[in-house]
Amino acid sequence: MSTETNAVLREREEHHASGVYALKKISITRGEGARVWDAEGNSYIDCAAGHGVANLGHAHPRVAEAIAEQARTLVTCAGSFPNDQRAALLEKLAVLFPTGFERFFLCNSGTEAVEGALKFARLSTGRSRIVAAMRGFHGRTLGALSASWEKRYREPFEPLIPGVRHARFDDLNSFDEAIDNETACVIVEIVQGEGGVRFASNSFLRGLRRLCDERGALLIFDEVQTGFGRTGRTFAFEHHGVAPDLVTLGKAIAGGVPMGAVAIGPAVGELGLGTHGSTFGGNPLACAAASAVLDVLRGDRLAARAASYGQGFLDQLCAIESPLIREVRGLGLMVAVELRSRVAPVLRALEERGILALAAGPSVLRFLPPLVISQADLAVVARELESILNAACPAEAVR
Ligand code: PLP
Repeated sequence: MSTETNAVLREREEHHASGVYALKKISITRGEGARVWDAEGNSYIDCAAGHGVANLGHAHPRVAEAIAEQARTLVTCAGSFPNDQRAALLEKLAVLFPTGFERFFLCNSGTEAVEGALKFARLSTGRSRIVAAMRGFHGRTLGALSASWEKRYREPFEPLIPGVRHARFDDLNSFDEAIDNETACVIVEIVQGEGGVRFASNSFLRGLRRLCDERGALLIFDEVQTGFGRTGRTFAFEHHGVAPDLVTLGKAIAGGVPMGAVAIGPAVGELGLGTHGSTFGGNPLACAAASAVLDVLRGDRLAARAASYGQGFLDQLCAIESPLIREVRGLGLMVAVELRSRVAPVLRALEERGILALAAGPSVLRFLPPLVISQADLAVVARELESILNAACPAEAVR
């Protein structure tokens, strides 16, 4: 427990912070498994997980030990010097991908992974155009922002990079119109996260693969949010049997230590010395953390756990009878409840009852709990949500 209150910590931070985040009332100071604690010792079931980062939960002992051990050994090592931790991680990553994915570029965040993938696609094809999806989100740096959809994020920074078209998500005709012989790449999420937890269909993804092959464009799957077990498979594209050319990774990859990665498939040509780089990318500390994450993910079969616990949670949410619910949808432990009302008051009410969750747009409530969460905690979340929705709009009142 902190010696300061939530309010005092918030005030101290507000004083010097950039102002780009709306600071909440509670200050989080500790975590363990699927729980976090605020400065005053109140505990919360964490269905936000640092925006889908803490797939292994907070303070996982194997990850903590790997970080501590590596911090005592070697934290920094430029990409031009081979390193034992980096070599081990690259080998572990290669095992997770389809045959031919032998190359990985290591960086420090999801948006950097997207920047890398867009640059590699341009380099490899000699083309510049990019096709992305409406409601897609790929990050805040200028390239990734150009591929993202949300006007609020884009407009203050225009003009963004030229040659980016947005097509309707999960609508193959719309992508058919947008992809041409100048298109370097198509970038999509398999499940749109920030865009409201919306799923690409198998026929859409197969169709995208065909269009890209026909027109010489590379296909990028952005798995920054869906990767590492979140949807019930190690990567969401595994649900579909469609192989991409590039995959962007981030969030959960290193258990909360900043890291991103681009997985590079066989259709991507030689990248060439000096065409890209990153001072911190692939540093031994992040690599050691990521190595431990991958070991735990496989050893504890967390993707399978996400699939079965996620289905149980989805069933419980579907059983809630409330006129405020428009739709419940999810894949693994990436779950959304779309409301007929605004989500902000529901998020506040959950917080007051000791549950942290996320919004995905103005009316979608999103749950991204650690994959180690217990079924009992998930049942509490479903029960509390039902009670909040009933209190806001008692079922009898609308019968
Ligand atoms: N891509 C997707 C699908 C994301 O959900 C996000 C972040 O939410 C990003 C990219 C950007 O990742 P980061 O915030 O680590 O830059």
